Amino acid sequence: MSEPDVQEIWKYIQEQLKRDLGDSTFRSWVKLLEVADFNAYRLRLSAPSRFVRDWIQANYSGCISKLWMAKITSLQSVEIIVRAAERPSQLKPPVKSPATCNQPPLASGVNDPLQAHKRPARIMNCGRSFADTSKDNSTGQIFGEATPLDRRFTFERFVVAKPNELAYAAAQRVAESSQVAFNPLFLYGGVGLGKTHLMHAIAWRIKELEPERRVVYLSAERFMWQFVTALRTNKMMEFKEAFRTVDVLMIDDIQFIGGKEASQEEFFHTFNALVDQNHQVIISADRSPQDLQGLEDRLKSRLGWGLVADIHPTTYELRLGILQSKAEHLPIDIPAQVLEFLAYRITSNVRELEGALTRLVAHSTLIGREVSLRMAQEVLKDVLCANDRRVTIEEIQRKVAEHFEIKLDEMHSARRARSVARPRQVAMYLAKQLTARSLPEIGRRFGGRDHTTVMHAIRKVEELRGADTSFAEDVDLLRRGLEG
Ligand code: ADP
Ligand code: MG
Repeated sequence: MSEPDVQEIWKYIQEQLKRDLGDSTFRSWVKLLEVADFNAYRLRLSAPSRFVRDWIQANYSGCISKLWMAKITSLQSVEIIVRAAERPSQLKPPVKSPATCNQPPLASGVNDPLQAHKRPARIMNCGRSFADTSKDNSTGQIFGEATPLDRRFTFERFVVAKPNELAYAAAQRVAESSQVAFNPLFLYGGVGLGKTHLMHAIAWRIKELEPERRVVYLSAERFMWQFVTALRTNKMMEFKEAFRTVDVLMIDDIQFIGGKEASQEEFFHTFNALVDQNHQVIISADRSPQDLQGLEDRLKSRLGWGLVADIHPTTYELRLGILQSKAEHLPIDIPAQVLEFLAYRITSNVRELEGALTRLVAHSTLIGREVSLRMAQEVLKDVLCANDRRVTIEEIQRKVAEHFEIKLDEMHSARRARSVARPRQVAMYLAKQLTARSLPEIGRRFGGRDHTTVMHAIRKVEELRGADTSFAEDVDLLRRGLEG
């Protein structure tokens, strides 16, 4: 195999990649690669910077090595290295000697193009996944399988309105100021309301403004998994080192760490270490720090020290805004009337709204039918029904009052006699279970009570359910009735 041959093949492969990944991705990333050296078994491509190398490694190495291996069958690995001359000056001294920095992380699973090639999931994910590889091999192994970043989840694509303006502003502040503004930033809200979107947006913005800052984003489940793996493989030192040297750590869906004591303990230490060093920590959860179950009190209280920003359920205006913004990116026209209809009828969460749009587009392009109100009603029948069945707090109050034969007014009254207090507690409990409302909001709907009263009610009902089977059956009956 001669040099010209290989260059020729590379040109061919580049054409292929341009087609597969799209012009802009190609120009921003793949085009920056050059063939560095090769023999019959190993080919090395070079990237102009570590950042570009890591990015390509994480996102496109699977496709790239697949294409090379198809062309040169004797190849066993395709590696991506950093071009020595053009390496950017390091803002911070690397942990290991610079020599290790130049090497692609050989043994780190996904980061090894050969390994990546063997993983079907990675190939399927071409161009979508992201792993923040680190400055040396040991941390590369720890973060080698970090959670993917979605390229659509940017600040630009986030629609801001009352329910999410605080969370949005805080996220932007954290991403754009190099000083640590609030630590941690704790984002919470119901499912599908944009927590993950905002966290990814922070990561993208930091990458853009300060690519040298080391950002690690991962789900709490991933964190636990990596922790357990580190334990099992005797890599705790590396694990600790890896996490404690990041500049910005984001852990998504921290509620999943509840009840997992060892992981929690480790997280707590990592968290403290980072905050003490003034490194930014960003956490998300589906509920507020105090409401996280199975979490130690000291951790709960620590999580609430920075800024706690909640994302409220969407309003009609926000839903419509989101739909309008999404519709702009669609290949077909959706009449304003249809968007309004969807915003009005699909109230559960943004993910479902998006799903509805996607279905309309798919349907319209496949069947070749224009999107109309009639068509939307037909195509989305099931989603619309499901949203119809959503229970409101008022409905819960009404059903529970009926069931216990008390006046509906008692749900809002200040009376504390058990005959009315208990049904009220049951209704609060069901409101928490069956709606996406936050505790403070539920409290407000029960005669302006404090969220701690709601929490107390929930605990009380849980306790009674455990102690008294007939009470438990009663509550379950009510619940089933409400769920329809
Ligand atoms: P969560 O993590 O809170 O469950 P996600 O961040 O995954 O929710 O959001 C679900 C979907 O809704 C994503 O596709 C996201 O882009 C979209 N989404 C949520 N809120 C907004 C918003 N305000 N503007 C635009 N898209 C949004
Ligand atoms: Mg999420």
